[in-house]
Amino acid sequence: FQRLRQGLSRSSKELSGSIAGVFTKRKLDEETLEELEDVLIRADLGMETALRVTDALASTRYGKDVSDAEVRAIMAVEIEKVLKPVAMPLELDLSHKPHVILVVGVNGTGKTTTIGKLAAKLTDGGLSVMLAAGDTFRAAAIEQLKIWGERTNSPVVASKLGADAAGLAFDAFVKAKEAGSDVLIIDTAGRLQNKAELMAELEKIVRVLNKHDPEAPHTVLQTVDATTGQNALNQVEIFRNIAGVNGLVMTKLDGTARGGILVAIAAKHKLPVYFIGVGEQVDDLEPFSASDFAKAIAG
Ligand code: GDP
Repeated sequence: FQRLRQGLSRSSKELSGSIAGVFTKRKLDEETLEELEDVLIRADLGMETALRVTDALASTRYGKDVSDAEVRAIMAVEIEKVLKPVAMPLELDLSHKPHVILVVGVNGTGKTTTIGKLAAKLTDGGLSVMLAAGDTFRAAAIEQLKIWGERTNSPVVASKLGADAAGLAFDAFVKAKEAGSDVLIIDTAGRLQNKAELMAELEKIVRVLNKHDPEAPHTVLQTVDATTGQNALNQVEIFRNIAGVNGLVMTKLDGTARGGILVAIAAKHKLPVYFIGVGEQVDDLEPFSASDFAKAIAG
């Protein structure tokens, strides 16, 4: 929790500062409620949550003097309510052997790093993991994944630069099956510049995996970079549609002033948030806790 609180300190400081600005010795009336709503929207929390907070305040405190601390306390309660339904642990169905996790997301959002951190968590928990370097477009991504593979003792299936990603996913699945791996994690390219190509590529990967296991990929995990703010909402929309995303990891929650976006995404998309990224190191992937996050951002 301390790490998260520290990571979100910029988000919460800005928010607290703005809330304090609205409520210096002032009554809760239409004007202050409206100003508060603006503050919450500017903090990326989204319209829906902003209204929840102002409604909750108005219903008990209208016409009274309120302190910024009271406002923040009510805000924390309302944010927790929005986050609670999406805060859940990643569950693996090991009867599949391998349970396949396809990791998607825009380049730079932290796919490869998250895969490395996740592999470390799973192998520490005694599971055998295989990694597939499916971002065949970027040499650096392949190299990065190999490094994570070495670090976590997880074999990495890679191919030549520019090779067919679906073919690689196929090879990786066969190898993971042969090796009896518990989990196969597949990295992918996140070239949003060419949506049609990206869609074709992801669909082909899914099709190929389906041939071997009709339920694979069992988890389609999207990494979302908190520092991108409102744009993150669209990214989730796009990848949900083209890749059938069924879970999220919110990365780079350390040091961003835009952590509120996680709340807006939860309210809009209602997808499970399995983990949050709070740094670049191997241990910097934490299970997502609704109450910790709400408290940390409310300050
Ligand atoms: P990819 O292109 O989606 O595979 O993204 P990468 O995994 O290569 O990550 C891009 C950059 O973001 C790298 O410099 C990572 O170290 C960094 N990064 C990833 N996750 C986090 C995080 O949670 N916090 C911070 N501060 N940096 C991160």
